[in-house]
Amino acid sequence: MDLPRPHTSYEGVPADTPLRAPDHTYNENDRFSTPPPNFRYVTLAEARSWDCNFCGGCCTSTRSDAEPLHMYTFGRLPKHQWKKFNGGEALIIPLTRTGKPRAWREEDAKGDGPAFVCRALGLQDDGTTRCQLFGSPRHSACGEFPIFSDVIDDEVEKQDWHSIPHTTYQRACTWVDIMICPEWSPLLRWRDKSNRLPTKMSAEQWSFASYMFNVAWRLKSEIDVQQWELDELKAMAARLP
Ligand code: SF4
Ligand code: SF4
Repeated sequence: MDLPRPHTSYEGVPADTPLRAPDHTYNENDRFSTPPPNFRYVTLAEARSWDCNFCGGCCTSTRSDAEPLHMYTFGRLPKHQWKKFNGGEALIIPLTRTGKPRAWREEDAKGDGPAFVCRALGLQDDGTTRCQLFGSPRHSACGEFPIFSDVIDDEVEKQDWHSIPHTTYQRACTWVDIMICPEWSPLLRWRDKSNRLPTKMSAEQWSFASYMFNVAWRLKSEIDVQQWELDELKAMAARLP
């Protein structure tokens, strides 16, 4: 299958997109494992005030940092390949293991779906990307990634969660390595000017920060979190400086 320019550049990982592995030093099985030092702690309003940098890491597996490529997918890909958004032509194209476009298969509609490239992803001369369907009807996920969905509003503002966006494989994304904190979170009081946690915090502060990060990580990873853990952390936050 031939894809029109600029998609021909997606036959494999483009040279301008270095693979930068996600931080694997964090031990999610230890609830007091120290959070990765590069994480930034911000409110939802702050995070939403930032701009997309058009890296394109969310619009094709080949511009993400997923290794192998199918670690980052568009999700289950139905046979129609979302052609209704693309004038009747297949929009989301499955990729082979080496990043080459291939025909749709039954298995693409199951599980997590295949590695993909979106036909609407346009490459600029400066190496950034633009969505050629911007302003036209698109899949709901396109306008919501990674922190603009109602789900995040619900998590942070109604359920009082600390929320970590799904940018694990988008190392160049504006919103990589952030934890969105509800307004009551003491992490917002403790953070430094770069929105990171200072190394000089009390043992009790680190204990809260580590446990809170672990709970947020488990929520992101859909690993069970008990309500009593959230209640205990909120009570602990009220006692801390
Ligand atoms: S339609 Fe646009 S925003 Fe959505 S995946 Fe394609 S290029 Fe990205
Ligand atoms: S990965 Fe993030 S910064 Fe890059 S295009 Fe997508 S939303 Fe924008």
